[in-house]
Amino acid sequence: MIIEYHRPPTLAEAVQLLQRKHPPTRPLGGGTALNFKGEEPLAVVDLQALGLDAIERQGNRLQIGATSTLQQLMEFPDLPSALGDAIRRQATYNLRHQATVGGSLASADGRSPFGVAMLALDAQLTLMPEQRTVSYGDFLALREEFLTGHLITWIEINLQVELVTESVARTPADLPIVFAALARWPSGRLRFALGGWGKTPTLVLDGQGHEGLRLAAESAFSAAADEWASAAYRSQVAGVLAKRCWQRLASGI
Ligand SMILES: Cc1cc2nc3c(=O)[nH]c(=O)nc-3n(C[C@H](O)[C@H](O)[C@H](O)COP(=O)(O)OP(=O)(O)OC[C@H]3O[C@@H](n4cnc5c(N)ncnc54)[C@H](O)[C@@H]3O)c2cc1C
Repeated sequence: MIIEYHRPPTLAEAVQLLQRKHPPTRPLGGGTALNFKGEEPLAVVDLQALGLDAIERQGNRLQIGATSTLQQLMEFPDLPSALGDAIRRQATYNLRHQATVGGSLASADGRSPFGVAMLALDAQLTLMPEQRTVSYGDFLALREEFLTGHLITWIEINLQVELVTESVARTPADLPIVFAALARWPSGRLRFALGGWGKTPTLVLDGQGHEGLRLAAESAFSAAADEWASAAYRSQVAGVLAKRCWQRLASGI
């Protein structure tokens, strides 16, 4: 239940509000998830006056303001097409115009295709008030800690990294039951992440060489059971999608 609404004009004021202990105070991006947060009394800090809605290419880096909408990012001309597909899988057209990049990363559960793709791409987040950079993987591992009193301001990805995704879903419009994303750096570094299950996207592999990728994917989802699919099914599909992702990267499709 939202009991207070603030729309500060500066980052300093936003951070000051977010560091209050009482009432619990949270950043408000598009509000599409926050508006559904239970009965706990919450104060919200609307981020829309902070000028964090730009998306800029700087050389090979893409700098994404945290309040850019998913649709804005999806339409950015230099965006890897597989990342655009992941955004399309994440949310409907109307929701994409409201949901922000920062809010979507902050709240992504394991079923979030966008979260999985950004984890594979090793997205880097800038957090206030320290203005420190943390990888999205580290952020997910300590999400509650990072979100208490903190704000994501910018997100950065490397545009030289190739990305391929594969998914299985009940229908094309459903969130996938298994979503796989494989990223390859010019140095040969490979990073593979899985989604479709769990509290957060799952990082499966980060290293050189694709040997063992399929096995690692199967093993990562060996206990991935919920009301949507059994663990045996997910594990097998994860292995198949991992193999397909690698074949597509290797053959340049
Ligand atoms: C019907 C429906 C179904 C959905 N299903 C799924 C699903 O299955 N899986 C999934 O992952 N998502 C799901 N979503 C969530 C959807 O992806 C989110 O609604 C959206 O991406 C969140 O973005 P937002 O900007 O609206 O965030 P908000 O609702 O504004 O905020 C979400 C959370 O992120 C925090 N936050 C927002 N901005 C920042 C910031 N800059 N820095 C730090 N913290 C911030 C907020 O405090 C809040 O805790 C669903 C949403 C809807 C409406």
